[in-house]
Amino acid sequence: MAKGFETNKVRMETIGIFGKSVGKRAGFTCEWCGSKDDLRLWDYKPDMSPNMDTLALLCTRCRDLAHGRRAAPEELHSIRKALWNNTPSVAEGAARVLARCREAWARTAIEDSYIDDNVKSELLRQGNPAGRR
Ligand SMILES: [Zn+2]
Repeated sequence: MAKGFETNKVRMETIGIFGKSVGKRAGFTCEWCGSKDDLRLWDYKPDMSPNMDTLALLCTRCRDLAHGRRAAPEELHSIRKALWNNTPSVAEGAARVLARCREAWARTAIEDSYIDDNVKSELLRQGNPAGRR
């Protein structure tokens, strides 16, 4: 038990080291929507060692989305431009949220983006209605 806590503590400290650099990269605005509301680091790959490519600075609302909150399609428009960011945590993270909505524009935006091809095909496959192959 104590060991898990220690590991988590070390991880939080490591993430903290990147805080300033990620903040600068983000221009101290949310890297998904541009808001300045309660910005915090979001860990895109909790099972990997944290680095600049796995962390993103997100506002409260976008962190909720990242953690699986359902959103109206109109709300998701605000994070669409994050797809063109060249940091994986920003672009792929946003793509994963967009892929959950079945709107055609969201699929097209993911198709047009420059995210990793494997992630892209995984997300677009998920978006297909069940049974259609
Ligand atoms: Zn945001």
